[in-house]
Formats: sequence, structure tokens, C-alpha cells
Amino acid sequence: MSTFKAPKGTYDLIPPVSETFLAVRDALSAPLRRAGYGYVETPGFESVELFARGVGESTDIVTKEMYTLTTKGGDELALRPEGTASVLRAALEASLHKAGNLPVKLWYSGSYYRYERPQKGRYRHFSQVGAEAIGAEDPALDAELIILAVDAYKSLGLRNFRLLLNSLGDKECRPVYRAALQEFLRGLDLDEDTRRRIDINPLRVLDDKREAVQKQLTGAPMMRDHLCEACKAYHEQVRELLTAAGVEFEDDPKLVRGLDYYTRTTFEFVHDGLGSQSAVGGGGRYDGLSEMIGGPELPSVGWALGVDRTVLALEAEGVELQLPASTQVFTVPLGEEARRTLFGVVTELRRAGIATDFAYGGKGLKNAMKSANRSGARYAIVAGERDLAEGAVQLKDLQSGEQAPVALGEIVAELRRKLA
Ligand code: ATP
Ligand code: MG
Repeated sequence: MSTFKAPKGTYDLIPPVSETFLAVRDALSAPLRRAGYGYVETPGFESVELFARGVGESTDIVTKEMYTLTTKGGDELALRPEGTASVLRAALEASLHKAGNLPVKLWYSGSYYRYERPQKGRYRHFSQVGAEAIGAEDPALDAELIILAVDAYKSLGLRNFRLLLNSLGDKECRPVYRAALQEFLRGLDLDEDTRRRIDINPLRVLDDKREAVQKQLTGAPMMRDHLCEACKAYHEQVRELLTAAGVEFEDDPKLVRGLDYYTRTTFEFVHDGLGSQSAVGGGGRYDGLSEMIGGPELPSVGWALGVDRTVLALEAEGVELQLPASTQVFTVPLGEEARRTLFGVVTELRRAGIATDFAYGGKGLKNAMKSANRSGARYAIVAGERDLAEGAVQLKDLQSGEQAPVALGEIVAELRRKLA
């Protein structure tokens, strides 16, 4: 062990778990790539102000969880705590919304940073795969994104996840509801912090995890009873499209994203095997966000799925992914001349698309065969001076133990045939 350890709240991805991680990232994004979403990559840090406005001054993310820093040049930056604000910023900066093809559909994958209290499933560095559809208001677009997330989870073999769904209304009906909720909340027995929240972010109070608060919320006005006709119709269409696609959901009238520019459709995916860190993904419509960061009106919808928690969910369900073998052929030279010749064969095999490894470090036959078995390879190539003098190598099937000579000039073609 070295003197150093990974920082608190972080962990390293190392083989073989890292392979699962890669496969999960891949599976979560595959449905997006088949649905017209283009890949976007933004910097790991942005101006603090972007997140203050784009995520919201009153959110836990901005008030407590951001890693901020001042550069030597005096810029106030933050490590990105989430993806939506950056992706929208990038789309606006490149004028993607002016190319005449709305919605602009983008997906991303990367590291995010939040100063949280570390627990299982809650880290200070974590990974998300996300998607944003910018510049269109259409219930089919909301439904599309939800369906793509469900299909992604299912493609991994996950079963015990649930979709929670709600509508947050729009700029017509939400203010009326917000006022009604504020009036209700002001009559409750709440601590000072929560009282302050009533003024700046009252919907968030509905989301309070404490039982003493939840008890008092019985009888609180609910957004779903205050939706205007347009929002009701929109939500009904989203629900119908999901049902038609065979996607089950649960209505959760308390599911909120408290910020004013989050509108209409809001949803969360929860997994029942993860204890209190149960949210594996979430998203919704954010029709007012573009204007909040200085852009034009661009109604949009998106989601972010947590890769770390999805991996934990797979473990909780006992799902083992079928990963391709990282090594198919392991090559064991006996002696200097064989070393040079077989190293050439290794390169040829790799160029032919066959995952191949080599017994490095001048190991003896016994140790080299141990490495071959440990590598997970199906075949080993073994050759010494006598084999090479006859223009051959020994090809060993590591599953059956059978071994036979193959002409050196034939070995690539032979392995191609066997592994096809
Ligand atoms: P939570 O309620 O658990 O704090 P959140 O609402 O902050 O989640 P989002 O901002 O919606 O989460 O992020 C989307 C997804 O990213 C979450 O559903 C979760 O799977 C994952 N995620 C968020 N924060 C963390 C974290 N600190 N560590 C690991 N995964 C996280
Ligand atoms: Mg959080």
C-alpha cells in the first residue's frame, strides 16, 4: 500500500468491477444512440454562477454540495455537480437550437462531484449517463425519454425498479398552487430552516424525509388538484403514451423538483434493493431553464441516471452481466527464439481482432500456464525451439485440455475459425 488513499467519499474502479461499470454505461446510453441523441462532452468545471442559476440558489446542491474554487486568474469555478446546466449552456453557446432542427437531442456520460455525507450509494465523485431534448414541448418527447430509460434498465436485466411520475404544472397554474401550499405550510409547526424554505422553495418541503414533517403534511394541497387544463391534458397524454408502450408507473403527487423552471412532467426511478439511496435516476421537463441562464425560451426535458447506483442495483438483484472475454488467446513462448516469433504472432492475432495476451517476464512453463488459465482465455499457444524448427506451434484448448500442433503460418486463420 502507498502512503495515499482515495479521498473520502470516492472509490477507484478496478478490474473486474470496472468492466461491469463500462458495460453499464454502455447499456444506459445504447437506447439513446438508437433514438437520434448525439454525444456531447462538456468541461468538468464551469463558472459557479452557471450552477447557481441553472441548478438553483436554494437547492442543497448549490448551498451545500458544490466543490468551488478560485483560479489563479480569479475565476470562480465549480466542479460540475450535475449535467443539465452545462449541456444547455453548450447547446446555446454553439447555437444548436438555431440550426432549424428542434428538438436538439443530446446525451452525455461522465463524472460529477458533490460534497455529500458519504454512504453506500452516495459518493463525492460519481458517474451519470444523461440525456436532454432541447427546444420542444411535446408529450411524446417526455414519453420517449422515459421509455428509453426503462429500456436501458431492462436491457441490463434489472427488474425491481419502479417509475414514479408527477406533473408540476406550468407558469399558469404553478404560482396559484405555490401560494396555496405556502399558506398551508405556514400553519405548521416547523423548524426555522424549513420555514425559510417555505418562502424560497416551498415544494421542496413536500420532499422532506423526516417523519415529523411528513405527518403534518397530511391534507396539504397537491399540485395534481391544481393543474390547469393544458397541463392536465399534457400529463394525460404522457401517461397514455407510456401505457401504450407497456411502461408501468406509479403516480406520486409528492414527487417534486422545487425550482420554478422545472415544469410539468417530473419522474424518478427507484430501486427497492438499495436502502435509503434508492433513486437510480431522475428527470423531468425544465421549460424555464434556458431563460434562467440567459437563453431564449426553449422548453426542454431530460434525465440523468446514476451509474454507481445502477451497478449496486445489479448486485442487489444478483444480475451478472455477460461480458465478452477480455483475453481469448494466451501465448506462452519457451526460450528466446520462441519469444520473438510468438510476440509477432500476438500482434498479428490482435490485428485480426482476437483479444490476445502474452507471458511477459520470462516465466517458466508452469507459471506461464497458470497465467494463461487466470486470464480467462479459451486457447493457449505454446511453442519452444523444437516446435518452431518444425514450423509449428502447439495450440491448447484450455477448456478441454486437448492440444495439437498447428502450422505457424496457419495459426491466425485457425484461431479465427475456432473463435468465430
Ligand atoms: P438523492 O435524492 O439520492 O440525493 P438526487 O435527487 O440528488 O438524488 P439527481 O440530481 O436527480 O439525484 O441525480 C440523478 C441520479 O444520480 C440519482 O438518481 C442517483 O442515481 C445519482 N446520484 C446523485 N447523487 C449521487 C451521489 N452523491 N452518489 C452516487 N450517485 C448519485
Ligand atoms: Mg442529492
